[in-house]
Amino acid sequence: MTDSIAGSGAISPDAAAAAYGTPLYLYDLNVVAQSHADLVAALPEGAVLHYSLKANPHPDVAGVLARLGCRAEVSSTGELDSALVAGFAPADITYSGPAKTVPEIGEALRAGVTRFSVESVRDLETLSAVARDTGRDPDAAIECLLRINADRPVPGMGLAMAGVSTKFGVDFARVLADPEAFQDTGRVRITGLHLYMGTNLPTEDVLLGQFDAALAMCGELARALGREFGELDLGGGFGTPYAQAGERPVYPGLRTGLEKLLDEHVPTWRDGGPAVSFESGRYLVGSCGTLVTSVVEVKESKGRQYALLDSGIHHLGGLAGLRRLPPLRPGLLRLPGSAHAEDTEPTGRPVHLVGPLCTPLDQWGSPSDLPALHAGDLLAVPNTGAYGLTASLVGFLSYPAPVEVVTGGGRPTTASRTVLTRTPVERN
Ligand SMILES: *Cc1c(COP(=O)(O)O)cnc(C)c1O
Repeated sequence: MTDSIAGSGAISPDAAAAAYGTPLYLYDLNVVAQSHADLVAALPEGAVLHYSLKANPHPDVAGVLARLGCRAEVSSTGELDSALVAGFAPADITYSGPAKTVPEIGEALRAGVTRFSVESVRDLETLSAVARDTGRDPDAAIECLLRINADRPVPGMGLAMAGVSTKFGVDFARVLADPEAFQDTGRVRITGLHLYMGTNLPTEDVLLGQFDAALAMCGELARALGREFGELDLGGGFGTPYAQAGERPVYPGLRTGLEKLLDEHVPTWRDGGPAVSFESGRYLVGSCGTLVTSVVEVKESKGRQYALLDSGIHHLGGLAGLRRLPPLRPGLLRLPGSAHAEDTEPTGRPVHLVGPLCTPLDQWGSPSDLPALHAGDLLAVPNTGAYGLTASLVGFLSYPAPVEVVTGGGRPTTASRTVLTRTPVERN
């Protein structure tokens, strides 16, 4: 792990632990820039790329992607704030997500957001009503993408968010059956389609199968609604290892495959046709992050061995209880000069990696390929730049959040932590 970022101008996880203590997240901005370059190279020439802040809303991480020309995809007012702090222009932010409320749409409009993804007729009507009453610029048109739920899942997809019964989007068949319900109203114009269908897709073939299905739907919807679209947001789902060792994949055949699909389905896409856009969270930032934690104590109970750590599901893997996570496989890192540095052989005996929370659910896994652990050892969980802290139970048991150290990108290393604070609330 240390080697993989040596020489990049970024500090290593063990150096960060020595400087700031544990637990900590380390984000390497050089890796974010490289991931962005690799994804852009895999997408069609001229494609628009959105960064989904839900993967990691840290403004320095998101800021690199803003400077590299990404747009932002946000789904809450907190993510909107993070995107603005990161430097995304309001015009480059798409506000998406189900169950948008009147106050949050109002806040987004007042912040200057002009593009929304709408997920239902109610969502479209609410946006139209709020746009009539609010907004910094009453003359500015509000553009919206209509989020579509496909009729069937794409084969090979793991966590399907489309093609099944879901709270997301409008069923494809519903739009075809009632196109009148999906027309421009007031200041709100339907300018595009949004077809995000799944996450962490395993191969180029599965990705291309998904984009093929998305483009076929775009064609049918344009005919049914009797209009040309200015933007086709084909989603994403670009996979990368999560919280375990492994290299971020590159997609050598994706650009050519996608361009061929676009030539078939949208022959005008190269000159004046619709903008083609994509979204990614995990691919852009997953591999930039490492969680570093210390072994506080090693103990035995009724024939099992436990390593008690200073981090747990309040910092990583909070979604595991919802079975949204594969088992975590932390790699071992030791500070230089550690007392047991010579101990490198796997013991072959499972060690239960548990955190400090007062619940037995606070477990990351029980690998048997780690060397013997000792109090004071450092463990690193690689590939945790996406869905790490932001997908965890930070409020539970009121532990302080881990330090987040940002390094690389030709900038001085910074360290900060988020703090949950209680503030008084006025009556409406
Ligand atoms: C979560 C989400 C994304 C990002 O997914 P990744 O797997 O992190 O790339 C993109 N678009 C929408 C609508 C999402 O909900």
